[in-house]
Parts: sequence; structure tokens; C-alpha cells
Amino acid sequence: MDLPGLEPEVPDLTAYDWIIANISGGKDSLAMMYELARQARAANVMDRVVCVHADLGDAEWPGTRELAEEHAAFFGWRFEVVARNGSGLIDRIEERGMFPDASNRWCTSDFKRGPVRTLMTRLVRELLAANHRDQVRILNVMGLRADESPARRRLLAFVHDGARTCPCPDCRRRRTISDEAKRNKRPVPKKDKIRHGASNTLRHVDTWLPVHAWSTADVWSAVWASGARSHPAYAAGMPRLSCVFCVLASRPALVRAAQLQPDLAARYARVEKKTGHRFRNDLTMAEIIAEAAATPLRATPVACWQG
Ligand code: SF4
Repeated sequence: MDLPGLEPEVPDLTAYDWIIANISGGKDSLAMMYELARQARAANVMDRVVCVHADLGDAEWPGTRELAEEHAAFFGWRFEVVARNGSGLIDRIEERGMFPDASNRWCTSDFKRGPVRTLMTRLVRELLAANHRDQVRILNVMGLRADESPARRRLLAFVHDGARTCPCPDCRRRRTISDEAKRNKRPVPKKDKIRHGASNTLRHVDTWLPVHAWSTADVWSAVWASGARSHPAYAAGMPRLSCVFCVLASRPALVRAAQLQPDLAARYARVEKKTGHRFRNDLTMAEIIAEAAATPLRATPVACWQG
């Protein structure tokens, strides 16, 4: 089914060897899959899509990984799980002695971006083993939306994920400008800076956000149109899935999460106590738990993320 008014700018999907759908099991991810499937069918490249789920372990809502797998199967796509080597997110917070925050989101780079790049490496190797001779072209597709936060509003729906070792003309140009500026001890203009993306000599990676301009209502329309199952946390009023206690979540979302997952909230509170670092500058997990205990549990939706 086509949803009116939601026609995104679509890159030429046939120009990619692999199309990686980053899936979380959440509603935006499902809407992205729905739109990607529509476009991939039209371009006859459904067989190039691989779903990847970055597993955050016990920081996630129960059943999230299984639901992500179910979503991949629903569209008939290959499913891969990646995770950081070593401890899970909550243990890592304890090891580092600090929670992530909006300006230092090491959780995303360590537990999502980095592990997804290991899948890219594997997929490139698969093609090279099958005698693919050129740089492998990968389209990295995500369900991020402008409506979610000011930071996401600033993202472009389609960008090249360039890097120093990428041989494409734009990355070469940036490298030349940067090397020259370094020799002359001059600063590099922001627009010419070398990027630190996922591309390299073996792979050319572009990022596409097919539902970037979609509203929450658009997303739910696509979820319902898809016919796939959504996570029960939404029916309990949660506006987003991902980590149960995301440092970027709104206060009402965190309070609702603490009501729904009290044991996990208690675990975060213990980490907070042990490290002496607050869950968030403006809000401790102890305060969230206290507010959760003093507030009646409702199933009405709560306010979304703010980060
Ligand atoms: S959901 Fe929030 S806490 Fe979890 S990895 Fe993403 S930004 Fe970090």
C-alpha cells in the first residue's frame, strides 16, 4: 500500500551491492523497513537487503532482539546480530564509572556504530570471496527521524559516509585540502574536513534515512499498513523502544519505564550509587524510581525523547 505524501527522495538502490537495514524492533525501524521494502521491490533488489540488529543486551526491553528477527523474517530478509565485544551496556557504564550523555554518546558509537561496521567488513569479504573485483558499494539504511530531536533534525536524509582512505572524488578532495592545510599550519574549513565514516578502500558507504521527514502519525500508519507486530511496550505507553532507560529520554518516559521495569531501574540505581555518577545531570535514577512509586501506572502514551 502506498502512503500518500510520504514519497522520500530515493537513491538508486540498484547502484549498491548490499543494502543494510539497521533494525531495532521499534516502530521507526519497522516503518523504515516497510518503506525500504516498497522501494527495493520496485528496484528489484530485495535480495541485496541484510538486516542488522545491534544487541544492547539487558539494557533493552525484553523480547526486542526476537522481535527484530521476526521483523526481518516478515520481509523475507537475512538477519544478523552484532554486539560489542566484552561487557554489555550496563556493565560498561559501571566499568567506565559514567553514564553516556547527549554530548558524549559513547553508547551509540561503542554498541551500535562500531559493531555494525564489523558486519560491513564481513559482507565485503563475502563478495570478495565470490570474485567481486570493485570497491563494494553499501547503502546503510536507518529509521532516524527529524521529529525525534534537534540533533536528528540537522541530519541529511542521504549522505556519503566518507573517510580518509575512501578513494571517491569528494574524499580525495577533502584529503588534499586537509593535508595542504596541515603543511601550512592553517585550519581546515568545516565543509572540507575529512570525515570519519565507514567507507574505506574496499567499501563505499552511503547512509539513507528513508523516513527522516515522517511524522509519528506517518510512522504508525506504515506500521499498521505493514501488518507486522509492534512491541508491547508501546501499548504500555512508551513512545520509543531501544534502551529501557535512555539518557536522552523525557522524564515521563523514564518514570513509566521504571514502573514497567522496576528491577532494571533498581540495577541502574545501584550503578549510580557505586560509580557516584548521576544517570543524568538533571535527574538521578533514584529520583526516577521515587517518582515512579508515587505516580499511578497508566497506559496512556507519555512524552517522547528530547535529546
Ligand atoms: S537508546 Fe539511548 S542510552 Fe541506549 S544506546 Fe541509544 S542513546 Fe545510548
